[in-house]
Amino acid sequence: MVHEQSARHFQKSKQYLASGVSSTLRLSMKPMPVFAAGGSGATVTDMDGNRYIDYLLAYGPLILGHAHPGLTAAVCEAAAKGATYGLQHQGEMELAQRLTEALPCADKVALSGSGTEAVMLALRLARAYTGKTKIIRFEGHYHGWADTIFTSFPSPDMQQSASGLQGRNTAGASSAAAGSSAKPGTSGQSAAALADIIVLPWNDVAALEETLRRHHGEIAAVISEPVMCNSGCIAPHPGYLQRMRELTAELGVVMILDEVITGFRLGLGGAHGRFGLLPDLVTVGKALGGGFAVSAVGGKDAIMELIADGTVNHLGTLNGNGVATAAGIATIRELAEGEGAAFVRMERLTERLVRGIRERLAACGMQGVVNQLGPVFHMMFTAESVVESFAAFGNRDAERYARFAELMLEEGVMLRPTGLWYVSAAHEEADIEATLQAMDRALARLAP
Ligand code: PLP
Repeated sequence: MVHEQSARHFQKSKQYLASGVSSTLRLSMKPMPVFAAGGSGATVTDMDGNRYIDYLLAYGPLILGHAHPGLTAAVCEAAAKGATYGLQHQGEMELAQRLTEALPCADKVALSGSGTEAVMLALRLARAYTGKTKIIRFEGHYHGWADTIFTSFPSPDMQQSASGLQGRNTAGASSAAAGSSAKPGTSGQSAAALADIIVLPWNDVAALEETLRRHHGEIAAVISEPVMCNSGCIAPHPGYLQRMRELTAELGVVMILDEVITGFRLGLGGAHGRFGLLPDLVTVGKALGGGFAVSAVGGKDAIMELIADGTVNHLGTLNGNGVATAAGIATIRELAEGEGAAFVRMERLTERLVRGIRERLAACGMQGVVNQLGPVFHMMFTAESVVESFAAFGNRDAERYARFAELMLEEGVMLRPTGLWYVSAAHEEADIEATLQAMDRALARLAP
């Protein structure tokens, strides 16, 4: 496979664009960051004319695939009417209504442009609501790149951004004891910005309970991914999130579920809808916009009221703009069609793909684990028989997987170099078959 145009454009891009990419993660793709020329459904085409079945899906947002006709039409129509006004408009209201109907914990929502911004707002709301400042977060989770929360490096592609960093905290290498303090995730980040962050191991009820009981007078919130998608797609232990809910409710601490990945991916109600949980606040982004910049915080009236009464400032020039809200409405509409049939289909296809991957690993005697929940999964090469903790995740052979992803690219399958796969509503049986055949060839070439 030739990457001549990608190589040429990457070199030229570096003359004008710092590092040649717009998000540091993208540098990790081997043999080089590929230049896209276009996408359609489940496939993306690069500037050399190579076509790939896409499981990167823009790091998650493309739940409907590339250039979905209904979504594209809605966005074009909105743009033609005026992309943004800085005034209120109907789309904003309609998206907010749809979000409150879809997300069980959301009496009201506030709109912003990225997952990072939604998390920033959720933390601010929690602090204002409780009058406390400390935040508990968990090792291996990722909540965006804001200075006040960016601490750890769940995957090697994120670590890349930290070269030159002092005292770095590497995935799997830190065995954060209960209450370890957070280290900056990048050079240029003030350690003081993280002074209120407490990092705990996840899925550890005892560590959570002990820290909450000892320090609840200072703790504003616990923030958690409902499934540890950023480090191994590890599911919560049975009862863990429920216990988190009980303890935070008892001790007056705000529970925030960061559903930037799981929202509109594990179902219309996100993970909390699927698991039957009611956090105080939820953040959604990525899949919500189907590839356009929209995110939201949803929560109970008592907390969201702090924005309404002016206690908490929620700002952003492009918040709730016409294009973003049209994208959100269209995405939710498409996903809701046929009583959520798209989720059932995506999940069935994903299960089939995962079964095929496991069979192939077993057939060629390669040790590996695939953790799946709904249309998202993490594949890793590891001697561990199960990966249910951040420590176990740290034992995977990340280099081997990156090589595998490179071989898959050669075979026409686009993967994130760290192992997280997304399946979209545009994928079809034939894509799954073709992917598994490509994998047969890639595994045969992967050194034992
Ligand atoms: N929260 C989670 C769980 C994420 O996975 C991400 C991004 O990967 C974010 C927040 C940040 O979202 P964004 O990249 O849109 O700022």
